[in-house]
Amino acid sequence: MSKRTDTHRPSAINPADYDFVACDYLGGGIDAIEFQPERVAFREHMTRTAGKFAEHHNNGSCHICGAAALYVARYHHVPSNTYITTGMDCAEKMEIGEAVLFASFRKRIRAGLKVAAGKRKAQELLNANELAAAWVIYTNPTGNDRNDMIKREEAVIYDIVGKLVRYGTISDGQTNYLRVLLGQIERRAEVERQRRAEQESADPVPVTSDRVSVAGVVLTTKMHEGDFGPVRKMLVKCDAGYKLYGSVPRELSGELKGARVEFTARIQRSPDDVKFGFFSRPTKARIVETVTAVS
Ligand SMILES: [Zn+2]
Repeated sequence: MSKRTDTHRPSAINPADYDFVACDYLGGGIDAIEFQPERVAFREHMTRTAGKFAEHHNNGSCHICGAAALYVARYHHVPSNTYITTGMDCAEKMEIGEAVLFASFRKRIRAGLKVAAGKRKAQELLNANELAAAWVIYTNPTGNDRNDMIKREEAVIYDIVGKLVRYGTISDGQTNYLRVLLGQIERRAEVERQRRAEQESADPVPVTSDRVSVAGVVLTTKMHEGDFGPVRKMLVKCDAGYKLYGSVPRELSGELKGARVEFTARIQRSPDDVKFGFFSRPTKARIVETVTAVS
């Protein structure tokens, strides 16, 4: 082994000549953002002094001892206007260490490594379950459109995958739910298109003062607080396409959502929407079929 004569050999280190500049982490498996501020600070320092890296006399990352350190510190050697990299342990041994800074940097990197490992593991688990699309949504929940509000399905996926990243595991129920949500997102455009097509092909509510026969499927029911107490209301999609809203006829009871019904009533078109109206004074109501397929 040849005897070192370079400036930064251990026996020649004079702590007063070295200014600490920045920490760095040389291992992989971590998002660059965790050490980016230090790298930027170091580059700015080099630009300011126009100094260069000192000639490297060993194969390791530490200029002083040649060890392959992952947690390192960068120093400016003021007399020669050169920069060196040292392992943090070595720096402390040479009495140029920055114990508090080193400790907080190590802590931040360890936390970053843990997060990155959690993300890798989560992504692998999703891929293995053919749920890769959930990862894409987790990393970009609004689909790259900054003005777009995050939709409910994406928000739930973001939440579940976030838990998977943090805790390393999710239940079978949540895994299945991810699949359901992804299916809904995939069908969203088609459902929306169908809805629009149905809406466009729907007839307008007839304008008449006669009592008319109404036949259709109940889309929803809800309780409404009326002047004389609570009233159950229902929204009916009529066979002609338009929708009517009104009080549930007293002959009808039980679960009505999805049921095909018939009755006779007065109807009135809405002033805001020709394909929407109200029915009143329903008579001769009956359930034709309890539950039909309603999307
Ligand atoms: Zn060293």
